Amino acid sequence: MKIWLDGELRDADGARVSVFDHGLTVGDGVFETLRTVDGRAFALTRHLDRLASSARGLGLPAPDLDEVRRACAAVLDANPLPLGRLRITYTGGLSPLGSDRGEAGPTLVVALGESPRRPDTTAVVTVPWTRNERGALAGLKSTSYGENVVALARARAAGASEALFGNTVGQLCEGTGSNVFVALDGVLHTPPLSSGCLAGITRALTVEWTGAKETDLPLDVLEYADEVFLTSTLRDVQAVTRVDGRQLGDAPGPLTAEAMRLFAERAAADFDPR
Ligand code: PLP
Repeated sequence: MKIWLDGELRDADGARVSVFDHGLTVGDGVFETLRTVDGRAFALTRHLDRLASSARGLGLPAPDLDEVRRACAAVLDANPLPLGRLRITYTGGLSPLGSDRGEAGPTLVVALGESPRRPDTTAVVTVPWTRNERGALAGLKSTSYGENVVALARARAAGASEALFGNTVGQLCEGTGSNVFVALDGVLHTPPLSSGCLAGITRALTVEWTGAKETDLPLDVLEYADEVFLTSTLRDVQAVTRVDGRQLGDAPGPLTAEAMRLFAERAAADFDPR
């Protein structure tokens, strides 16, 4: 497996990032995960825009997006895979203990892993912890993912594949690695970005294609919504069959099935031409 690290392709086995990298020591970094099919990345430009905006939010130097683009192409060419997940990590770089962000400049890593298609349906749990919609990291795709790791472990222990967060004012927010949609009386809704959720790329496309409304929703909407589904790069549109103890009829329901259909039909157009 070849990866990109600091300006060139290298063997993943021999590639080294400093133990003093600020991304490792304090989570000072941002990242993107892209879906790839036969060496082409889905929605590459949208992901690069979000990488730049997360970096700005964290106060990191602006990434050189031409280099990131070159790195993605080089890694995809060097590792032929039918279905992959391309991971871009961009951190504060070398920073000896006790010092602030390093002067050596940021670290850029691009790597590729396999990514089998996810099932069309899944179970989720809600967690008692909240997303802070007014926090410094709200809406940024930062590598400080500890909270998501803890919540996801709770979901897995309950036989689910995702955990959903509310925010500090009791509104529905998002999952550990996905956005959430609900159907109420024949209308699709998803929490607005002001809820503290990430500006998911799959979410944006789903809103555009289905006309879903961005609505402040109470967390307990999950107890009475007619349908619930998740969106993310690796899940696409995934129907929710169970929320905590509540079974949701015959998932996917009609609006979820339509969102899945639209996504499958239109997403094919947003692959980076090569
Ligand atoms: N919310 C969080 C916290 C995420 O990590 C992700 C995944 O990247 C998403 C939502 C979904 O975003 P996207 O559709 O861009 O993958």
